[in-house]
Amino acid sequence: MSNHSALGTELQGRLDRLLRRVGRIEGDLRSPHDRDWPERANELQNDEVLEGLDEMTLGEVRHIRDALRRIENGNYGVCASCGQPIGTARLAAVPTAITCVRCTPQ
Ligand SMILES: [Zn+2]
Repeated sequence: MSNHSALGTELQGRLDRLLRRVGRIEGDLRSPHDRDWPERANELQNDEVLEGLDEMTLGEVRHIRDALRRIENGNYGVCASCGQPIGTARLAAVPTAITCVRCTPQ
């Protein structure tokens, strides 16, 4: 079993940063809206952008948590679909990958 503790620490750090960012975004979404209509239209557009970003960030949070769980369980770097090792080049490019190149839909 290879030791992924350095990667685990790095991913944990990234997760903490993402969660802080999500906290800030949700704070923005909750902020009271200005009652002026032109202002309000602008704010609604901003909210759409924020919600899109939020979803993307939450998706990444999920991926990082999966990777951390796999490091903990000792099956990090093993394809979740075919059980073969995920290439080191792929893991270097996508540290949160849980399937090998062949099993990943394009
Ligand atoms: Zn595979």
